[in-house]
Amino acid sequence: MEYTVRPGDTLFQIAKRFGVTVDAILAANPQITNANMIMPGQVITIPTEEAPPSGTTQYTVKPGDTLFKIAQQFGITLNELLRLNPQISDPSRISPGQVINVPVQAGPPPTGRVYIVQPGDTMYGIARRFGVSLQELIAANPQISDPSRLTPGQRISIPGGEGVPGEIVRTNITYGHANVMADLMALRRRYPFISSMVIGNSVLGRELVAIRLGTGPKEIHYNGAHHANEWITTPLLMKFIEEFARNYEEGSSWNGFDVRAIFRSTSIWIVPMVNPDGVELVQRGLRPGQPFYNELLRWNGGSTNFRGWKANIRGVDLNRQYRANWELARRAGPPGPAPALYAGPAPESEPETKAIANFTRAHNFRLVIAYHTQGEIIFWNYLNLAPTESRSIVNEFSRLSGYRAVSEAPEVAAHGGYKDWFILAYRRPGFTIEVGRGVNPLPISQFPRIWNSNVRVMLYAATV
Ligand SMILES: [Zn+2]
Repeated sequence: MEYTVRPGDTLFQIAKRFGVTVDAILAANPQITNANMIMPGQVITIPTEEAPPSGTTQYTVKPGDTLFKIAQQFGITLNELLRLNPQISDPSRISPGQVINVPVQAGPPPTGRVYIVQPGDTMYGIARRFGVSLQELIAANPQISDPSRLTPGQRISIPGGEGVPGEIVRTNITYGHANVMADLMALRRRYPFISSMVIGNSVLGRELVAIRLGTGPKEIHYNGAHHANEWITTPLLMKFIEEFARNYEEGSSWNGFDVRAIFRSTSIWIVPMVNPDGVELVQRGLRPGQPFYNELLRWNGGSTNFRGWKANIRGVDLNRQYRANWELARRAGPPGPAPALYAGPAPESEPETKAIANFTRAHNFRLVIAYHTQGEIIFWNYLNLAPTESRSIVNEFSRLSGYRAVSEAPEVAAHGGYKDWFILAYRRPGFTIEVGRGVNPLPISQFPRIWNSNVRVMLYAATV
């Protein structure tokens, strides 16, 4: 490729930037007679030892770029961007001017949602996943010549969500990790004031994202889907992000709350899906090629029905993993991997729990809510250690939601839960809200009722 020398460039820097040697550049540029004399504006040839991976092009890093931002911009995940750039050893260190490989921008429009084809996917399955018709999906992807043949890694444009307020997050579909990632991209494009970061990866490498609403100094945190078959809490939080952003943009009062005032005073940090591997297992079942296939069958008592599964993909219950008398949680639960209640080999042994615990330690949360299902109850205490104000806060939660506030007696407390640890470690208000009623996984038809009960709770919690 050709490169135009910029002021301040040296051959050594250029070589480093493109991952080649100075000698290789000199060999490709016989016109350069003195390696110390290159001039701004001069065009030199950069020898590319290997062609960039097919389907990719090159991108020059701009000031302020992060790899996560670039990945979002090109509609891929951070992990996929790293796969295209094996030369990057430390993803947190990229510098302006550096050249990296990115996918060729073809097909998906800049505002749309993008889905990366996974092994075993069909157009029909993807259409169902995103709540669009097969015809719409095919029409949105004219670049696909044969819709019956998809290649894993291929990028599919998901129609809908292009600038229509209130239309990005679908709440009438089986909402999985791919929906979180695709909707997050679309939300960030539609509402550029939404920011997000990757706080870790699941056992199987899925990205755990934290999304921030607001810029204020007061920080609060909501998370969902610690438990796999409680995934309905994820679209609850995603829809809240979308509606909060829309109301912020419109500057309107929402359910009696001044969204712009909340935005200025508070940063609401939301992790919509703590346990993506478990959620995918519940939603899609055991599929050929599934990692831990045989173990999962054994841990599930030989059954291929995983609708009762709460744990992560290693059979560890992520809400028995925190440092709140973990030893007691371990003794109370099964001795090894199981659909639920196994506390794991050590506290925070699982990457998902570790990510949430580290994220919590790295912030100064005034209040946290962990969303679970079901029962329409709110747990607000742990061993009677909750601060006094927790009681008045939960009374207001209860009034707004119609849910019942419960303070478990210390002798019946479960241990190792996220809110338990938060209360124990910080003595600040921490809550577990159990939404919905019925049998897990709750049918998505309960979404409107769950939404109505919780939207004001999420708003109010940001004001206390
Ligand atoms: Zn739960």
